Amino acid sequence: MKTVNHWIGGKTVEGASGNYGPVTDPATGEVTTQVALASADEVDAAVQVAKEAYLSWGQSSLAARTKVLFAYRALLDANRDAIAALITAEHGKVHSDALGEVARGLEIVELACGITTQLKGELSTSVSNRVDVSSIRQPLGVVVGITPFNFPAMVPMWMFPLAVACGNTFILKPSEKDPSAANKLAELASEAGLPAGVLNVVHGDKVAVDALLAHPGIAAVSFVGSTPIARHIHTTASANGKRVQALGGAKNHMLVLPDADLDAAADAAVSAAYGSAGERCMAISAVVAVGAIGDELVEKIRERAEKIKIGPGNDPTSEMGPLITAAHRDKVASYVKGAADQGAEVVLDGTGFTVEGNEKGHWIGLSLLDRVKTDSDAYRDEIFGPVLCVLRAETYEEGVALINASPFGNGTAIFTRDGGAARRFQLEIEAGMVGVNVPIPVPVGYHSFGGWKDSLFGDHHIYGNDGIHFYTRGKVVTTRWPDPAEGHVGVDLGFPRNH
Ligand code: NAD
Repeated sequence: MKTVNHWIGGKTVEGASGNYGPVTDPATGEVTTQVALASADEVDAAVQVAKEAYLSWGQSSLAARTKVLFAYRALLDANRDAIAALITAEHGKVHSDALGEVARGLEIVELACGITTQLKGELSTSVSNRVDVSSIRQPLGVVVGITPFNFPAMVPMWMFPLAVACGNTFILKPSEKDPSAANKLAELASEAGLPAGVLNVVHGDKVAVDALLAHPGIAAVSFVGSTPIARHIHTTASANGKRVQALGGAKNHMLVLPDADLDAAADAAVSAAYGSAGERCMAISAVVAVGAIGDELVEKIRERAEKIKIGPGNDPTSEMGPLITAAHRDKVASYVKGAADQGAEVVLDGTGFTVEGNEKGHWIGLSLLDRVKTDSDAYRDEIFGPVLCVLRAETYEEGVALINASPFGNGTAIFTRDGGAARRFQLEIEAGMVGVNVPIPVPVGYHSFGGWKDSLFGDHHIYGNDGIHFYTRGKVVTTRWPDPAEGHVGVDLGFPRNH
């Protein structure tokens, strides 16, 4: 069996704790790999390596950093297929979707290649008599990224390229469910010339995470994962004096107004609800049909959903792959099985689905639940599977109130031909990312990504300008160079005034 070990100080470091976690191919249900799970001592050793590397990397020139980042971009580009294959083998998503994930991660590497312009400071001359003021941003030190299973390459790439471009050194703690892509990303960074110790990968579970959160050598923590863990990370790391951004779970709504192009809306709903088997934090999991369009829209979604081909991610004809684990598949199925008892109409029931020849895979079919009640489990919880809930609202106002009552506020979308309604929606909706006729409004790399309410704990969104601010701290320098001809300023006990 393959073993995934840590990547520390520019080389593979074998796990020393004696603890390993199983990694399963979701399409076959077979354990293919074991991943080392770090102890607190191993975490400490990695922090020491990253601290040592920071001494020189934190002082390195922007030219030296961007040289590495441009080389890294080229290597990632050449290895898109290899990274995507690793993702499919451990996550299960179809190859084309895995390639999309790599492409969206590459966007942040490209942003980091332009760090020279992003880190330019500000200078005001002559703010007072011969006094100049400059604002600069400096790196934090050793920073940590803790990432979820659903984007094993993209989410780490939301973090470390900008963090190291800003001069920090980085410890990545990937999901233990699909750990291989992280090592590949780190190996390629070394090949691109990133000095040893600048980017480290420590695998592990709660033990490793808690050791990182408590470690005095860590300056900041970026987290992406479920809401309960995001809340724990934010509380614990903040209490330990660290800067934290913790992105959590979601329940993303799509509001469809009566004037919308219903075919386009149905296409978008099916793509956004069932893509990656619904295991996306920006998946649409609730459609709110406004007015009398509900029955027609549900029928159009049903027609399309029934045609989706489910199969192994490495089969080019598959459109949707399996779920990450059998336990998660069973949990997703329980929401569909309980839906009718809680008042929903089950239009499509994907439970019990299997793929011939791969019966042990973590399969589930597509489910569509109509007239879902807002107090039902299927609506209230983030199911994180291929289950789409449809709700009905009489008016635009009722639809917006329904969406704003959700504790989550990650992404949301409106489908309409009415520009005035779309404009109102942008201003009135309580979510961090809004799509207008765009179902999954994941911002491009140079605009930051982040939700509101229980979808993000902390002040900074991730990547873009917010990312650069998160991974740096400001310093303001006030300088006076007196003209020797003018002599001394003289003693003045008053508070400095500008004149
Ligand atoms: P998760 O919260 O279970 O795990 C995320 C990370 O936290 C992993 O590295 C895991 O090892 C670690 N972890 C898990 N339990 C822990 C504990 N008790 N203590 C300390 N660390 C722990 O999330 P997941 O199941 O891997 O990913 C799916 C979730 O992530 C979904 O809720 C999804 O919405 C969310 N997500 C959010 C975004 C976003 O941008 N908001 C993006 C992707 C995924």
